[in-house]
Amino acid sequence: MYLIGIDVGGMSIKGGVVTTEGEILFKTSIPTTEKYTSDYSISEDIKKVVDAVVKGANIDIKDVKGIGIGQPGSIDSKNGIIRYSNNIALENVPVVKELQQYYDLPIFINNDANCAALGEHVFGAGKGYNDVVFITLGTGVGSGFIIDGKLFEGRDCAGAEGGHMVIDISPNAKPCNCGRKGCWEAYASATALIRQTKEAMDANPDSMMHRIAKEEGQVSGKTAFLAAKQGDKAGRQVVDNYIDYITCGLVNMVNVFCPEAILIGGGISNEKEYLTAPIQKAVNEGRFGAAFNPTVEVKTASLKNDAGILGAAALAL
Ligand SMILES: [Zn+2]
Repeated sequence: MYLIGIDVGGMSIKGGVVTTEGEILFKTSIPTTEKYTSDYSISEDIKKVVDAVVKGANIDIKDVKGIGIGQPGSIDSKNGIIRYSNNIALENVPVVKELQQYYDLPIFINNDANCAALGEHVFGAGKGYNDVVFITLGTGVGSGFIIDGKLFEGRDCAGAEGGHMVIDISPNAKPCNCGRKGCWEAYASATALIRQTKEAMDANPDSMMHRIAKEEGQVSGKTAFLAAKQGDKAGRQVVDNYIDYITCGLVNMVNVFCPEAILIGGGISNEKEYLTAPIQKAVNEGRFGAAFNPTVEVKTASLKNDAGILGAAALAL
């Protein structure tokens, strides 16, 4: 049996035929339309991708166990509805019902961070753990929780938004896209790291970060890490502060969930042990009852570029 995983992004809809062991047999993508209307639903484009991957992998649709869809935003996974999407203009789209007109198959949809957490749990670095906290450090901070081997979504599937727990209530706390101030996301995302790097560059005109950014053509999430690795003091300071922010949120989550493992995904996770080793140490030292409670492993997520397709496919497993 095969699974079909669909990853809906702001720029494109990616899809793949995946084996039940997590091997991608064929994948493709199509660009997303500027604006979907009541006459042309996103389901039509998803159908195009499903049909293309079934053809490309040269399989019979009868051998497909189910279709899973990962979509950023607020998703009603129980009723198969995109309540609100934060990368394409979509509101209250009954995607699963629309697609079921074409396919006599189980079809599932969930939030992209939930899919990524499930994908890592089923196919990736989270395999073998029953309790996993997954975070992704990108434009924002996404989070997903596997509790007792199952995806935790909260009431009406509207929870598990760890990025929006507040870690700073001071008057000059950073504003967040959600409307609150001081959210973890405003400090621990790649976007926040770039802002912190720029601020440190302004304050330190002699820092190596200026040369590195020039060579890269821009200030990125890598700039401060590259400078720190070359012994730059200001770069080191940015990285240390950034790791403190990540750790602060993770200790909060460990104190609530006490997972076996924390998995970190997103672009920043390319720093591997340089990022995870100090975080693992700080989380285990900072958690409640540190001397008595079990230690938590901190690892990077392993599915990388195919995480979206594999995570969505895992929904259908
Ligand atoms: Zn927020």
